[in-house]
Amino acid sequence: MASLALEKVTKSFGKTDVIKGVDLDVREGEFIVFVGPSGCGKSTLLRIIAGLEDQTSGHVRIGDQVVDAVPPAKRGIAMVFQSYALYPHLNVRGNMGLALKQEGIPKAEIEARIKKAADILALDALLDRRPSELSGGQRQRVAIGRAIVRQPKLFLFDEPLSNLDAALRVNTRIEIAKLHRLLGATLVYVTHDQTEAMTLADRIVVLNGGRIEQVGSPMELYKNPANLFVAGFIGSPK
Ligand code: ADP
Ligand code: MG
Repeated sequence: MASLALEKVTKSFGKTDVIKGVDLDVREGEFIVFVGPSGCGKSTLLRIIAGLEDQTSGHVRIGDQVVDAVPPAKRGIAMVFQSYALYPHLNVRGNMGLALKQEGIPKAEIEARIKKAADILALDALLDRRPSELSGGQRQRVAIGRAIVRQPKLFLFDEPLSNLDAALRVNTRIEIAKLHRLLGATLVYVTHDQTEAMTLADRIVVLNGGRIEQVGSPMELYKNPANLFVAGFIGSPK
């Protein structure tokens, strides 16, 4: 599983500077959570890592490779969004296997990967169902399964739980933690939910107005926030 580095990354939309020089090193197998208020640049940063958005300046490295010129499909990443966009005409198995089929991966290998992902996500009994026959939480687990079967070097999650009700949010959060443990995957996860950040992260990156305010373990940020903004968002006041 790859490490990830952001080096002096900036992004402007027209005259608006949205990302203002972000440096970050993510270790192999690390669970990194981006938190920060709405509009602070979390999704933009994730989309830059994925290659769905070009940075204005700076570099993105995945493993040993600078990927600035590498298209999204070749970056070895899989992304899970808040809206899970499953194909309604395909059953769960079909949704999970589609990308692999398009890559020309042999059928037996596809089946084996789907089985493994279904095991992790407790989807075994649902493989023949269509999305319309699933609950919101089950659909989101299929979307996560679709990412797992691609065996990416890096998982990117953009607020994957925000469309779920409270109980499902907790369940799915536990699935995601389990997924990280079982796969040893490097994972960058965006949320504006403090509980999600505190329970899932190895390290939390606190973003504000396109800049990093602080990076640290949940306990470090809680005990020793760098400033009032971080304290307000995560920890106790200094
Ligand atoms: P977050 O995910 O933290 O809520 P975003 O990364 O979506 O924030 O957005 C950061 C800022 O960039 C916001 O002010 C948003 O309006 C702006 N922005 C995002 N995408 C575009 C775009 N394609 N064109 C212009 N402005 C954008
Ligand atoms: Mg966002």
